[in-house]
Amino acid sequence: MAKRVVLLGGGVGGSMVANQLARQLKSEILSGEVDITVINESDVHVYQPYFLYMAFDQVVPVDAKRPERAVLNHLIHLVVGHAERVDRDQKAVLMADGTAIPYDYLVLATGSRPAPETVPGLQDGGHIFYTEEGALKLRDALHTFKGGRIVVTVGVPHKCPVAPVEFTLMVRDWLNTHGMEDSEVLYTYPIGRLHSLEPVANWAGEIFQQRHVDSMTYFNLESVDAENKTITSLEGETVSYDLLVAIPPHMGQDVIARSELGDAGNWIPTDRHSLQMVGDDSIYVLGDATNLPISKAGSTAHFEADVVAGNLINRIHGGLGSIRYDGKVFCFIEAGADQATYVKFDYQNPPKPQPPSEMIHLYKLAFNKMYWLSAAGIL
Ligand SMILES: Cc1cc2nc3c(=O)[nH]c(=O)nc-3n(C[C@H](O)[C@H](O)[C@H](O)COP(=O)(O)OP(=O)(O)OC[C@H]3O[C@@H](n4cnc5c(N)ncnc54)[C@H](O)[C@@H]3O)c2cc1C
Repeated sequence: MAKRVVLLGGGVGGSMVANQLARQLKSEILSGEVDITVINESDVHVYQPYFLYMAFDQVVPVDAKRPERAVLNHLIHLVVGHAERVDRDQKAVLMADGTAIPYDYLVLATGSRPAPETVPGLQDGGHIFYTEEGALKLRDALHTFKGGRIVVTVGVPHKCPVAPVEFTLMVRDWLNTHGMEDSEVLYTYPIGRLHSLEPVANWAGEIFQQRHVDSMTYFNLESVDAENKTITSLEGETVSYDLLVAIPPHMGQDVIARSELGDAGNWIPTDRHSLQMVGDDSIYVLGDATNLPISKAGSTAHFEADVVAGNLINRIHGGLGSIRYDGKVFCFIEAGADQATYVKFDYQNPPKPQPPSEMIHLYKLAFNKMYWLSAAGIL
């Protein structure tokens, strides 16, 4: 009987693992020894980093989407539907339509979601560019903005560790180039520095000063008063805004909670090196869904995909699956003014942001277009 590998989630991590398996296990799939299925609730694959650019009308939704089928190798089965629950006793994913998809190996790549409902008033008073709908609403609001104070308030954990800093610098640039140089930009962060990664916090502090961005630390957003246009922090500070942009704390997906696989935030306990779910060696976890204290980024999912795919291939061939993830993450950081920098780090080596340049900005724009090759496993 075929060894069944099921990937729950066909976003960055799920599609990359599946494509590597399909390429490297081609003969086993063709001979019926291995079977690979991706389950995704949508038949559209979305490139989320484009939401940042969508807010500034630099890209439109069609640029950020491809059919999920077109991203996956033709040897992979695609099931489009909502997974209700993982049943570890039955070793099956139970779908909302009542079907069960059995597995020998399961890869959980369900991602994360912003949870604005956890902050009273935020959904009425704030903009959130972390979804297509939110990015488009913010785009429209920026186009009718007449000046004043833009507040960018950040909650943790959230995906893409640097997107809030990127948005802050890009919106400063946007105000400057749209005749609103006198408008203020204020960035708030919940801990005692401007970013969870200390070198990025130091870098952000310097560039914020050069670009006239104000900041507040120890600001944990407690509530939004949409009528009076103010936000209040748990620490007791109240700040007024003319346009509010929030990156709310994120949570893991509800399917993880329903399956009782996660912690209070629906993050799945994961071994930091093997990427196996703690306590179940038939389940691997990657991308945003893990509870690992590393950045929730597409590049994280990308590097983890090499480890998960490598270990699955090794185990299917009779090995022990000993490849280890070293915590590698790579992120470009848009810095506004047509410049960008990047950070690369892992469990042992902290990031060292370099001075921003136009060349790195152009490279980020090129990478955005190349993403589709990397998701398809060609790059
Ligand atoms: C504005 C923004 C900018 C970003 N910029 C960058 C960047 O510059 N660089 C970078 O590296 N990262 C960036 N990211 C982060 C990156 O997009 C995510 O970290 C990455 O997509 C995580 O990959 P994943 O595979 O874990 O989850 P995802 O890619 O989110 O995929 C999860 C998949 O699981 C599916 N799913 C979930 N629940 C179910 C269910 N119950 N049933 C069926 N299917 C389900 C979803 O439909 C989805 O397709 C950015 C994100 C945003 C929002």
